Amino acid sequence: MKYKVPQSEPFIGKEELNNLKITIDKKWITEGFFCEKFLDIIKKFTKAKYAVLANNGTVALFLGLLSLDVGKDDEVIVPNFTFNASAGAIAFTGAKPVFVDVDENNLNIDAGKIEKAITKKTKAIMPVHIYGQSCDMDPILKLAKKYDLRIIEDAAESYGVFYKGKHTGTIGDVGVISFFADKSVTCGEGAVILTNNSQLYDKLRYLRNQGRLHSGSFIHPQLGMNFRMTDLQCAVGVAQLKKFKKIEKIRLKIYKTYKFLLKNIEELSFMEESDYSNFVPFRVVIKARNLDKLIRNLESDKIQTRKVFYPLHRQPCFAYLGYKENDFPVANKIYSEGLCLPAFPGLTMEQIEYLCKKIIKHTEQK
Ligand SMILES: *Cc1c(COP(=O)(O)O)cnc(C)c1O
Repeated sequence: MKYKVPQSEPFIGKEELNNLKITIDKKWITEGFFCEKFLDIIKKFTKAKYAVLANNGTVALFLGLLSLDVGKDDEVIVPNFTFNASAGAIAFTGAKPVFVDVDENNLNIDAGKIEKAITKKTKAIMPVHIYGQSCDMDPILKLAKKYDLRIIEDAAESYGVFYKGKHTGTIGDVGVISFFADKSVTCGEGAVILTNNSQLYDKLRYLRNQGRLHSGSFIHPQLGMNFRMTDLQCAVGVAQLKKFKKIEKIRLKIYKTYKFLLKNIEELSFMEESDYSNFVPFRVVIKARNLDKLIRNLESDKIQTRKVFYPLHRQPCFAYLGYKENDFPVANKIYSEGLCLPAFPGLTMEQIEYLCKKIIKHTEQK
């Protein structure tokens, strides 16, 4: 079926194509000119002291956890409402993900519930900045200090999102931003790991590039893997970063249009905006009372729908952790009501109006 309103589309065109042509003409397609430039722009924008690239956000989280020496017998606290990869990366180090419920209004980790989840085995906390807003980091930093824990921020969805003026991903020990195709800025696949700690930076460099600091040498002081990106991807990425201000503006405008057009529907509510964070809408999440029916109706109107994340404590792959269905009532409630509306820059006003008209029709009918 061809959708009238798709869920996501990358905002790519001429500029990306030009940079790709430059890369092809240079005949240098592994890490090179564009990867360096990509990193430079990211470091300037985020004010991170150090940054390394990785193939995607999932392995970047894995790499970040390895740099913090997270492994077997450790526990890492993570919200139970996030993309599966946050907890998957923890499990792949051999550590145990420990879930904490989220805040019903902004969908981020409920910092007030973290302390109860801390045990002697807790090594780190992984706050996840969800749907384009920052978590409340101050209480998390306080707990990390009190219990001597590391912080790895999953900022996969939050390029351009700042917490009290600091870019997400630069507040904890390490932080990860993803450049997957549906994120605000994209390389198709790709990610960056940010840190302000020179020792962690060195560890990350060895780990990501076969246990050596520079390609071309066959002497490997340490064990490492290959977590590199390509100049083809970063050629696209550089063009994307240069467009970021525009992307942010359009996404905010789309969000405001939704809020305006859907403001009088009693049955619907929007995610709350936190005063400590700006908002770069990754998706626009609304909560609806009669979700399954609404989804069926929208799909038959050729609108591509997307539910919110499935709570991690109910994921089949995490059944071994032994959580019960009702352990996390807030995430359960969000899952039963939450719907993602598209916020990609290519969305037209006609598409938004069509989508809102249909939502209004289906919620009023009941
Ligand atoms: C996209 C995403 C990831 C994974 O990033 P990839 O680049 O797709 O591997 C991790 N966590 C969150 C919250 C995400 O949205």
